[in-house]
Amino acid sequence: ALHAASEARAGDVTLTGVTKRYGDQTAVDGLDLHIAQGEFLSLLGPSGCGKTTTLRMIAGFEEPDAGDIRISGSSVVGVPPHRRNVNTVFQQYALFPHLTVAENVAFGLRRTRVPRSEIRDRVVEALDMVRMRSFADRRPAALSGGQQQRIALARALVNRPSVLLLDEPLSALDRQLREEMQVELKLLQARLGTTFVFVTHDQGEALSMSDRIAVMRAGRIEQLADADTVYGSPSSAYVAGFIGRQNFFSGTAAGATVEADGLTLRGTADLVAGTAVRAAIRPEAVRLAPGEDAGENRIVGRLVGISHLGESMQYIVESGRHSIIVLTPRPSAPSVRPGDAVTLSWAASDVAIFPDDGATPAP
Ligand code: ATP
Repeated sequence: ALHAASEARAGDVTLTGVTKRYGDQTAVDGLDLHIAQGEFLSLLGPSGCGKTTTLRMIAGFEEPDAGDIRISGSSVVGVPPHRRNVNTVFQQYALFPHLTVAENVAFGLRRTRVPRSEIRDRVVEALDMVRMRSFADRRPAALSGGQQQRIALARALVNRPSVLLLDEPLSALDRQLREEMQVELKLLQARLGTTFVFVTHDQGEALSMSDRIAVMRAGRIEQLADADTVYGSPSSAYVAGFIGRQNFFSGTAAGATVEADGLTLRGTADLVAGTAVRAAIRPEAVRLAPGEDAGENRIVGRLVGISHLGESMQYIVESGRHSIIVLTPRPSAPSVRPGDAVTLSWAASDVAIFPDDGATPAP
């Protein structure tokens, strides 16, 4: 263990068998997770899956009932938050209204032994990081929401933590600002090389920023991988439904074929006959063409809806008891109208087949 501790780099985080219970509710259930130094890792999942509790245990606001948490190689169980060399940015960033931006950022350092002149330098450095130096003398009320959130970030970074914990820090911002801040956060993290652990229920947010995403379900990690893998090769129907959009078909498999309520899908799996499965096809993997032309991995249906999503067009097609969503980049959108007969087709490699795990995919 001593050897491992000396080899660990500053800023890596290891959770081993971490469990947290509230009464008879298990919020976090035997979690194992290693976060590398300098990594941007997101904890992603629906409300109640345990992501905030996990973050709060790393921060030291909660203690695990079982298991160990190591930061930079040393166990932090029982160590108070301010001794962990971590800092947290919350959704409600609560700046002090009567203090200036610079005083807000300096606040945490005032209680430490950092000399005054160094405090000044560090505040300037932290404000530079978030591109807010020229706002140093303003009060929070004179800042926009995005600017206030940047000050909250600067306040958390001024201590030079080796791990920054972020608990849905962008969810109070409007959509456009949130997307801008996603880009900024990712650039800032890459520049600083600080380990970021980011809690979110927003899959788009996790996909856009993370080196790896831990998709959580009922206090456990269901899949841990980079964005491309969780999106392109989800490990379960739960992950497939939570990340991105899907067309799901419940049915029965035999070999590579799924019979789903009058629709036959041919994938690339090899399943025991009679297995209850959910087949999934991404909306962007479905091609839509005018006219009727049935065949393998093709179905004929009626176009019932068209929506403009900006860069892409969304079509809703009804076929038998199935309602299928199709997404097509706008430049290649076919010329069709609601009520038209259309043919949908896809490749066998785009049919993902999962055991039916009882999960209700999130919208
Ligand atoms: P959200 O996005 O809604 O915050 P989450 O994934 O972060 O959800 P947690 O807040 O970690 O989930 O909660 C996990 C489970 O533990 C939930 O069922 C929650 O009700 C329960 N829980 C969390 N904190 C407490 C507490 N202080 N007392 C009792 N139960 C709690």
